[in-house]
Amino acid sequence: MALVDTPVDIIDFTDRELAELNDEFERLPASKIIQFAVDTFAPHLCMTASMTDAVLIDLAVKVDPAIEVVFIDTGYHFPETLATVEEVRRHYGLNLRMMTVARQQEDLWAADPENCCSAVKVGQLDRAVAGKRAWMSGLRRNEAASRESAPIIARDLRGLVKINPIAAWSDLDVQSYIDQHEIIVNPLTKQGYPSIGCMPCTTPVADGEDPRAGRWRGTDKTECGLHLA
Ligand code: SF4
Repeated sequence: MALVDTPVDIIDFTDRELAELNDEFERLPASKIIQFAVDTFAPHLCMTASMTDAVLIDLAVKVDPAIEVVFIDTGYHFPETLATVEEVRRHYGLNLRMMTVARQQEDLWAADPENCCSAVKVGQLDRAVAGKRAWMSGLRRNEAASRESAPIIARDLRGLVKINPIAAWSDLDVQSYIDQHEIIVNPLTKQGYPSIGCMPCTTPVADGEDPRAGRWRGTDKTECGLHLA
């Protein structure tokens, strides 16, 4: 029997079983992967959203309209991103959990972006997933070289199951889904920001540049730490 058909109440995945599931998921559409996550882990399941677009949210609410969506409000987001959060929340009647952070006394992002991300982003994610067994994100392999071997399902640093249902999607797959389903997108994506993070740490990218070249530009930093496995 395939692991996706195994009764939910006897599931306690070993790393080997997660690897087998990953192989199965490479052949399944994202909606089936999300269905598996909901059947297996809900209500101890949530998903994170960066609000670059609402593709994963659209897929997920079609499986479970009440799925918990986490947005980490660092206090440094672009106004366009916060407006997108509200537009998506209203459009889907989203079960949205905003993780808000007390504004820092000084701009830690300028002095020490690694610690800023760790305190502001990863710390809030730790709070958001406390008590959960699994979480999902919209991470995709072709977003960056650092993500090209990302699994669809694996264990994260906390020991929770992390699922990336659209890890294998190309940019074209995403754009096709946006066009076919009239998905809400952050307006910054049409203004030179293919990857959108906090305002002080994100610049537009030029044609031909890596889509994430505008993140922490001029530094060696490429990831905020949310997706470390
Ligand atoms: S992206 Fe910049 S402002 Fe946002 S948490 Fe990381 S260092 Fe801080």
